[in-house]
Amino acid sequence: MAVVKIGSVPIGGKEIVVIAGPCSVESEEQLLSTARAVKKAGAGVLRGSVFKPRSSPGAFQGLGEKGIGFLLKAKKESGLPIVSELMDSSQIFVLQDAVDCFQVGARSSQNFELLKRLGKTGKPVILKNGLGSTAKEFVSAAGYLPPEKAILCLRGIRSFETETRFTLDLGLIPVLKKLCDFPIVVDPSHAAGKRGLVPALAMAAIAAGADGLLIEAHPSPEKALSDSSQQLNFSEFEDLMQKLKKVASAVGRKI
Ligand code: PEP
Ligand code: MN
Repeated sequence: MAVVKIGSVPIGGKEIVVIAGPCSVESEEQLLSTARAVKKAGAGVLRGSVFKPRSSPGAFQGLGEKGIGFLLKAKKESGLPIVSELMDSSQIFVLQDAVDCFQVGARSSQNFELLKRLGKTGKPVILKNGLGSTAKEFVSAAGYLPPEKAILCLRGIRSFETETRFTLDLGLIPVLKKLCDFPIVVDPSHAAGKRGLVPALAMAAIAAGADGLLIEAHPSPEKALSDSSQQLNFSEFEDLMQKLKKVASAVGRKI
């Protein structure tokens, strides 16, 4: 299987990598405290977005360029490589010196022109599945990226079920492993939509063969400016990491 490096962290090797951090970058203190907490608990990569694709135009859209300095500071202080999201190729220029990996969200995952442009940056891309994409459409979209730079992220699809925010089909992990050679990360946070459901989905994803997880964590989730109900606080994140280490070792891997 292909191994894709985010900074110096290999994704798709023997070690399972946990990518964690807030949904949106909100302030210097918020990002730095999260970087310290998730690193201490064993995360290998920090996530945090300054550009946010919100379903409502009235919702917090991210700090934009104002947040770039916070990403740089968090990276310098923690040593963790950074993943951050973008929706438009005009944002590449703003982000590219601050991030080690771009994230393309569910709502942009078939923006083929964006994927082609990202392919030219030389940086890896975490590509989420579209809300209504099939596994084959997902793999096909990833084909717009250089094969050695693409990481797939399963984050659930829209179904008739409303008890979870999206429906996470973990059966797609072995399916995707047959269909392609890309490392596969699972995002239990956006699939669950509720923090209490995140641990079960995260553990199940590792048991089913995921190469990594993308988990939202925030110093005070109830005050978060986006995705408040699904982010874990630091102690919940640390507890989960302990459990994930046990599941990883049960399937012959390490975190
Ligand atoms: C996110 O990671 O914060 C996000 C917006 O994810 P998705 O595109 O999967 O909804
Ligand atoms: Mn989010």
